[in-house]
Amino acid sequence: MSKWETFKLQEFLTQHPSMRLVELNAQQVVIEGEYEIDAQMQGFEPILDTYQLQIVFPPDYPRSLPTVKESERRIQRTADFHTYEDGAFCLGSAIKLKSILCEFPTITEFVRRILDPFLYAITYKIKHDVYPFGDLDHGEAGLIDDYQCLFNVKGKAAVLLVLAALGARKREANKLPCPCGCKRRIGKCDFRFGLQHWRQLDRRRWFREHLSKFSRIEKPKRKTRRQKNTSKDSRDSQRANSRARCP
Ligand SMILES: [Zn+2]
Repeated sequence: MSKWETFKLQEFLTQHPSMRLVELNAQQVVIEGEYEIDAQMQGFEPILDTYQLQIVFPPDYPRSLPTVKESERRIQRTADFHTYEDGAFCLGSAIKLKSILCEFPTITEFVRRILDPFLYAITYKIKHDVYPFGDLDHGEAGLIDDYQCLFNVKGKAAVLLVLAALGARKREANKLPCPCGCKRRIGKCDFRFGLQHWRQLDRRRWFREHLSKFSRIEKPKRKTRRQKNTSKDSRDSQRANSRARCP
């Protein structure tokens, strides 16, 4: 059985007869055609619609994420619609998507858990000019919001610290200050056990590269002994500023 069969490629094609396989080899799988979405989110209207899509699964799927593009320009190619200029969707934050695919790697589950909810929200937005459930910000602010929820930490600095820990060998990571705010090193806090889950999603290098794409945080002025006492206040204000909206 080929790798793609274990990911239920045939089952997907059977469920979506208007989509056809245009390329299948060791490098990638490309599927194109009319994709029908027939979905309902709890508490919202059912939506039945179709989009012309191209879905590309990379060779190291599910570790690397599939890309989905819409070709008819029915969806605005703007940040507001989470769609890039080339028609590719911004389906969510990389670590959240990787986490879902790590647990549910089949193509049918990718569609059910990631693509359909995305298309549901977009179709609803086109119809009603508002998202059915709170929309996360696009770009870095959205990522930080998302990762605060995923990692259960508060503030951009803490999120970047988690990414730094994931990009480091465990021994090195244990020496970093703990992102949970306990004021200990990671190695002394139970927070380190939670990191294990995220570590399995990719290599350390991937997390380092992911971290490098974030804008840097302005370093606070060097603390004098007197100012040290204010560090708690600044952390509290950082918490207040963070706009985490966990689902
Ligand atoms: Zn801690």
